[in-house]
Amino acid sequence: MKRFFCVVFLTVFLFTSCTVTYESNTYFALDTFISTNLPSGTAVDIEGYIRSLEALISKTDKNSEISRINENVRCTVSHDVASLLSFALEISEKTNGAFDVTCGAVSSLWDFRSDTPRPPSHEDIKKNLQNVGYYGIITDGDTSVEKASNDVKIDLGGIGKGYIAEKCVDRLHENGVDSGFISLGGNIAVVGKKENGDGWNVALRDPFRQNETVGNIVMESGYLSVSGDYERYFEYEGEKYHHIIDPKTGYPAVNELASVAVLCDNGALADALSTALFVMGLDGAMQFYKDGIYTFEAVCITKNGDVYTTDGINEKFKLTSENFIMK
Ligand code: ADP
Ligand code: MG
Repeated sequence: MKRFFCVVFLTVFLFTSCTVTYESNTYFALDTFISTNLPSGTAVDIEGYIRSLEALISKTDKNSEISRINENVRCTVSHDVASLLSFALEISEKTNGAFDVTCGAVSSLWDFRSDTPRPPSHEDIKKNLQNVGYYGIITDGDTSVEKASNDVKIDLGGIGKGYIAEKCVDRLHENGVDSGFISLGGNIAVVGKKENGDGWNVALRDPFRQNETVGNIVMESGYLSVSGDYERYFEYEGEKYHHIIDPKTGYPAVNELASVAVLCDNGALADALSTALFVMGLDGAMQFYKDGIYTFEAVCITKNGDVYTTDGINEKFKLTSENFIMK
């Protein structure tokens, strides 16, 4: 199984002119590599906080609240999980199911960890697709969750890291930290400008060439999430199968896109939208931007190396690779 971790996808260049010294930490959590760069002496246990949130929303931890939802038709969850689920359901509806938090019944059929991975059978996909659909979960605006059937399963893989990134930023602000960055796989959170007032230069990974970059985005705050077909995938009988599923078909979304980066001021939204835009394809993604349902900016990279940006990101994004063409 080939598996490239997102920690190498996004690189933040730190400038030495700052008088604040930053401390870097890297560890494995949330099924990916986490790296943080925070002012030295920051007395905030971000790693412990990330692990506590993971315990709440992990789909593989049998004791998590998400497992409770997946194993019961009716249950009660914490306010944090209830509001994340409500937001995930809202995004599922507004993206017309391109992002669908109830894709668990089909996403669980795809095993990207196996040493001998192979696609599930058409029959299994067809059968399980019946249980995919955001209308299959009802929340009461408080902490109760009810499912249309116990075969409806939720998957927060496309929104959880962005949500946790945002919770970490809130916690840092509460503790007086106003500069730094956090990278949770393909999700970057920028806490505030650098001490010298400059933004952070975030490099966007080349989807085709490992360890190379496409360009830079200057971020002064907010969240950047990247979804791509190179992140988690396997090849079987000459076909490539990646981990972003089209909830309408149950199969990996196949279109002209190789990766989508979404920039916005909400971490969960950035994460969910990068997944959704990838499923929508280039035209669908650009139309969704124009529809103005959510405020965000995006960089879409196609399989033939064309780079499309939304209107509001042009002054922040700079192409640095000769292997790509700005459209
Ligand atoms: P990553 O998790 O690598 O950062 P994404 O944010 O694009 O990448 O999320 C992909 C994950 O989200 C998958 O591993 C799966 O758990 C879940 N997922 C896949 N397709 C969808 C979809 N269309 N809607 C919601 N969640 C999805
Ligand atoms: Mg995502």
